Amino acid sequence: MPLLVTGTIGIDTLHAPTGQAERVLGGSCAYFAAAASFLAPVRLVGAVGGDWPEDHRAQLSGFRNVSLDGLETRPASRTFAWGGRYLDDMNRRETLFTELGVLEEAPPKVPASFRDSRHVFLGNTHPAVQLDLLRQFPDRRIAVCDTMDLWINIARPELLRLLEEVDGVVLNDQEASQLTEQRNAVSAGRAIVEMGPSFVVVKKGEHGAVLVHRDGIATIPAFPSGAHQVIDPTGAGDSFAGGLMGHIAATGRQDLDTIQAGLAWGTVLASFTIEAFGLDRLAKLDRGQIDDRLRAFQRVARVG
Ligand code: AMP
Repeated sequence: MPLLVTGTIGIDTLHAPTGQAERVLGGSCAYFAAAASFLAPVRLVGAVGGDWPEDHRAQLSGFRNVSLDGLETRPASRTFAWGGRYLDDMNRRETLFTELGVLEEAPPKVPASFRDSRHVFLGNTHPAVQLDLLRQFPDRRIAVCDTMDLWINIARPELLRLLEEVDGVVLNDQEASQLTEQRNAVSAGRAIVEMGPSFVVVKKGEHGAVLVHRDGIATIPAFPSGAHQVIDPTGAGDSFAGGLMGHIAATGRQDLDTIQAGLAWGTVLASFTIEAFGLDRLAKLDRGQIDDRLRAFQRVARVG
């Protein structure tokens, strides 16, 4: 079943101890769509400016299962651009610049052919915009959102309204604590479930993730560090969400077991993303490689 995603398409400039990449394809929507496309057909809704490079369009079009019918090109505008630098251990990142471009304008339009989407992922943006987009999908069965510290600080009332209407939330442990004033991931997750969603995924970076669901809790480890080469961590979070939602859309379910399995797909897809700059590794990936690594991860994660 198709999976709809909204979010940013970016032109990224990346500096890491492993090298650098100038003006490569990035943005939350691009990573999410690319990762999810291995598991379910993806409908992308976003906007770019007249400066969006042709080779970025070619790279995104190369993912066979991604429909770009909802990608608006605004010739007189500029594409969202972002620069980031990783410090020595690659776990810390600083933002070098953010040029909002099209993000300062009206949100992208949802094409009529996408309005019947049943599975919706609302990538990070102002929660009022996320809510407006959400309401354009009257047939939705499962809607999940992302958020970040900025919106928790400056748009809490709108975020709380959004949480009443979504089924799930994906966020990191610091954001979960900031939202709930609970330091522990499980307590924070439970407090968020009280706000409306049926489940919350709290990401803990190199320590994996915790799932708090109305029907119980589950944890998932990260791959042990060193298991795979880390060249560029950008997009790990978005690829993780893409793998998770791709599995939810492929099964059409959101029970505890399905989401727990989705976390494994997310972990595996993110582990590929970080092996090269930008989307280069995902662009060369095939389903067989993903299945092999999922089996390896299931062996690593096995208990008892
Ligand atoms: P991640 O590494 O998963 O946190 O995502 C990195 C991607 O997020 C990059 O490709 C950026 O283009 C994009 N990005 C950076 N800042 C923002 C922002 N404020 N809103 C939306 N997307 C952003």
